Amino acid sequence: MNVLPWQTDAFTALQQRRQAGNLPHALLLTGPEGIGRRHFAEVLAASLLCLSPYADGSACGSCQACQLRQAGTHPDLLTLSPEESRVIRIDQIRGLTERLGLSRHHAAWRVVIIEPAETMNVAAGNALLKTLEEPPPETLLILLASRPALLPATIRSRCQRLSLVMPPRDAALAWLREQGVEAAETLLDLAGGAPLTALALGQEALVRHGNLFRQWIDLADGRADPVKLAAEWIKPDAERPIQWIQAWVGDMIRLRQGARARQAETEGALQKLAGAIDLVRLHRLLDQVREARRLLGSQVNEQTILEGILIYWANLPRQART
Ligand SMILES: [Zn+2]
Repeated sequence: MNVLPWQTDAFTALQQRRQAGNLPHALLLTGPEGIGRRHFAEVLAASLLCLSPYADGSACGSCQACQLRQAGTHPDLLTLSPEESRVIRIDQIRGLTERLGLSRHHAAWRVVIIEPAETMNVAAGNALLKTLEEPPPETLLILLASRPALLPATIRSRCQRLSLVMPPRDAALAWLREQGVEAAETLLDLAGGAPLTALALGQEALVRHGNLFRQWIDLADGRADPVKLAAEWIKPDAERPIQWIQAWVGDMIRLRQGARARQAETEGALQKLAGAIDLVRLHRLLDQVREARRLLGSQVNEQTILEGILIYWANLPRQART
């Protein structure tokens, strides 16, 4: 299991702390979706569980501990995620605490991965607090969260925060090509720069993006109904269309200011549209889209949000032309 190239520095820093004997007992791992947060947690876990790691700290992949981990049966690697409901419940945390009270089986370390940590309900969070306050020896808790602000401050303050960042574009593209991905540039654009998302998107996303973009142009030309499209676009998810709209609007603003678009594929069509729209209105639309992305995932009606954006957009060019 290899460290992703853009996470080498973070991994090395932790290994140095491990050698110095001051690894934290709890890590709060944050950062955008699709850059390999979970992968980083698993590589770190593998490294700590391995019985004969390499000099750089990475797992050997062949010792007994590595084999158990690869089979998903290592008794000192515990993972917690929401089960039937969308939250991590208190009985899951209690089960974890009980297991942490038992002695370790193999390695020097025991690792717990909790993901997404912000789905712990209040009772579960309180139960975990006790473990964070009196951590068992040689145990690392890794909490993964894309919205760490939703975690209670009491939990955040007892974890060391490690924020993983979006990789540079060149590094992401090189990695995608190594994975044998064709059309790496386009997919990376569609994924908003997140390489693991790009890898997961595949051909289907290219087709969906093409369709949605054509309808986006139709809306501007008054040939489509924004309410009807909003209902269609939220299937299977609202997040991707809103992310793409943000990219299109961002590109229109860039083009309007005489810069190049980020996405080459849609540049020509957006150039034509952008010329007819007031820059202030484009910025207002961009604000609306950003706000929509912020709201996604909370208790909001995604269709209503998307409708608002599409209606605003459908009325924009006409306002500007008259
Ligand atoms: Zn090993």
